[in-house]
Amino acid sequence: MRALSRTPGRHGQASIRRFSDAVPMWQNRSMSDHRFLIAGGGIAGLAAALGLARAGLPSRLFEQSPVFEEVGAGLQMSPNGVAALRHLGAWDAVAPNCVIPSEIHVRDGRSGGLLQRIRLGKAFEERFGAPYRVCHRADLLGGLLAAAQNLPSITLETGARVTGAETGPAARLLLADGSAIPGAAIIAADGIRSTLRTLISGPAAPVHRGHTIFRALIPLQDVPPEIEADCVTLWLYPGGHVVHYAVSNWRSFNIVAAVDAKNEGEGWSTQALQSELLPRFAQACDALALLLEAPAAWLKWQGADLPGIPRWARDNALLLGDAAHATLPYLAQGAVMSLEDACTLSRELSRGLAPASAFVNIENTRRERTSRIQEQSRRMGRVYHAKGALALARNAMLRYGGSSPALRRMEWIYRWQP
Ligand SMILES: Cc1cc2nc3c(=O)[nH]c(=O)nc-3n(C[C@H](O)[C@H](O)[C@H](O)COP(=O)(O)OP(=O)(O)OC[C@H]3O[C@@H](n4cnc5c(N)ncnc54)[C@H](O)[C@@H]3O)c2cc1C
Repeated sequence: MRALSRTPGRHGQASIRRFSDAVPMWQNRSMSDHRFLIAGGGIAGLAAALGLARAGLPSRLFEQSPVFEEVGAGLQMSPNGVAALRHLGAWDAVAPNCVIPSEIHVRDGRSGGLLQRIRLGKAFEERFGAPYRVCHRADLLGGLLAAAQNLPSITLETGARVTGAETGPAARLLLADGSAIPGAAIIAADGIRSTLRTLISGPAAPVHRGHTIFRALIPLQDVPPEIEADCVTLWLYPGGHVVHYAVSNWRSFNIVAAVDAKNEGEGWSTQALQSELLPRFAQACDALALLLEAPAAWLKWQGADLPGIPRWARDNALLLGDAAHATLPYLAQGAVMSLEDACTLSRELSRGLAPASAFVNIENTRRERTSRIQEQSRRMGRVYHAKGALALARNAMLRYGGSSPALRRMEWIYRWQP
């Protein structure tokens, strides 16, 4: 885990102003409370701050951790994510630490046989309008943070836990130290276990999907030679699957293994023993078995999502990112959806709408797409973990269908533009 230093609070004007000469009516109050208040400094919160800055709107972000913690595992940055990062002005800060994989391989975890190959070169990039990259969550968070720190309109505050909020014409965020922070509107980007969700949407708990997801990082040089380290590889196995790829500009190798098993832990980073994982892949082919034996330590979390919460917006408060639509990671769209959210936030507020109206538009615009991604992610979990005849049929379709059907199926996700 790396820790980024705390950014000192800065109270300045937006460096990117789109309608500085026409202050909207809703902003025309005292200059001390015109900033948007963001709860949570993960991917969604930092991206939202950048989206607001792009719309010419200042913000104040409150992160509960004492530092912006760069924890987590690898993230796949599909073309829609790259397009969103470009729009938010953060791609230049994120790109240097991304890895350019050559191909995506889907393999049978028992035989080792190649079932599908997707080339990620120029033709892929032209088809979807942006490249496909992989990175560590830390690299994405660090890039967003660097971009946010460059903008004087964004104030970042760490060690600031949000405990509640008051919505309505006078929005206020309530912090654990007893302070009440006034602002123009509230963005709740406080993750899957959001504190503010009940206030905005009513009670809605994450739904555990009976999967435990293990992750490990190893130095690139420790990857067994049997593994193609320059590819993103997905291994399909009865009751589980494994995904791996290089991250952090080829310094580390990210391995994620999901299995059909309940896990009681709530956090992202529960310690896990090798002995919890290896028996689940007892019949793995040599290459996969060698890779799974490589990490000395694993972390695990519980596969959960948050389907169809009643509402994302109430008055001038809005849920974004995992707080609104947490998903299983099997389409690799959790972080990317948060980046898309921030672009939509930026667009709606750039039109000069009052926050309450803009927030309803954002919910209406985003809900169908994010629900569909959640639903398909659940389905991919079932497909990846299939057993017996179902697994044989799946493998035959992958082997003989080629990459075209897979690319067509991903088009509605990857072709998204801000
Ligand atoms: C520590 C961590 C590790 C993760 N690891 C992985 C991973 O390995 N693989 C994967 O697919 N996804 C991982 N994720 C989730 C992934 O980052 C998100 O699904 C996605 O990026 C959407 O991000 P988000 O900002 O909505 O939520 P999150 O990334 O969960 O960010 C929410 C942020 O809000 C802060 N916060 C929460 N409550 C409060 C509060 N009351 N007051 C102030 N701040 C608050 C949290 O500290 C956190 O920084 C991880 C998330 C976290 C927080």
